[in-house]
Amino acid sequence: MKSLRFDIITIFPNLFASYLEETIIARAIRKKLLRVNLVDLRRFAKAHDAHRSVDGRPYGGGPGMILLLEPIFKALRSLKLVSASGIRTGKRTRVVMLTPDGKQFNQREAERLAKYDRLVLLCGRYEGFDARTLKLVDEKLSIGPYVLAGGELPAMVVLEAVARHIPGVVGHPDALKEETFSKGMDYVEYPQYTRPEKFVPAGLRLRGSDLRSKRGAAWRVPKILLSGDHKKIAEWRKRHWASR
Ligand code: SAM
Repeated sequence: MKSLRFDIITIFPNLFASYLEETIIARAIRKKLLRVNLVDLRRFAKAHDAHRSVDGRPYGGGPGMILLLEPIFKALRSLKLVSASGIRTGKRTRVVMLTPDGKQFNQREAERLAKYDRLVLLCGRYEGFDARTLKLVDEKLSIGPYVLAGGELPAMVVLEAVARHIPGVVGHPDALKEETFSKGMDYVEYPQYTRPEKFVPAGLRLRGSDLRSKRGAAWRVPKILLSGDHKKIAEWRKRHWASR
């Protein structure tokens, strides 16, 4: 049985608590398909520092603070992912720095990362990382072209998108084959409907003719999906896979 371990290095481990206790992620953890180890970066601050600081001012001046290299080095050492001389040691492991200037994360990247046994997600804060931190990571990932205050939300995005590709995490295996991006990054899933067959908003007064009109019809489920003819339904769905 394939299982994947995540180590998430963050100064806000508590942000993950309710997220990891709910949804398909909690179920995957219970089923031992997923293991999530939260690593509080402040544990690796200097022992004599009462504030357990993990940030410092940028050399050369400028706004904000930068995450110190040493606590990250020590955190990775504690996970046995780097040797005393700074050499990366994990096999079947990927150490990922979350940063807005990283490679754009998408469904293909999620599938790729799901093939590893262990993923380490490094969450930045403040103005980001000391540039030498790059020596300790395998790759940089961005969840999109915008800047968030920290790497914790990106870590949850990567965790959930990757976890869905571990067999057993998504209840119905066919769900992964028949969804947006499953047939290529340009493809979006056909429209889906559930009950009721006809929906009339309470505030909308419709006469019979309105219900038959184009506007009224838009609130009805396409007839073919109610036909029970699986061949025709499959053909309809095939036609409605849309290219972006
Ligand atoms: N000064 C940095 C820059 O200009 O690129 C931005 C730092 S940002 C305020 C703080 C942290 O949030 C980053 O180190 C990173 O870990 C995380 N972060 C923000 N936006 C992100 C994104 N789009 N994808 C991944 N991580 C992001």
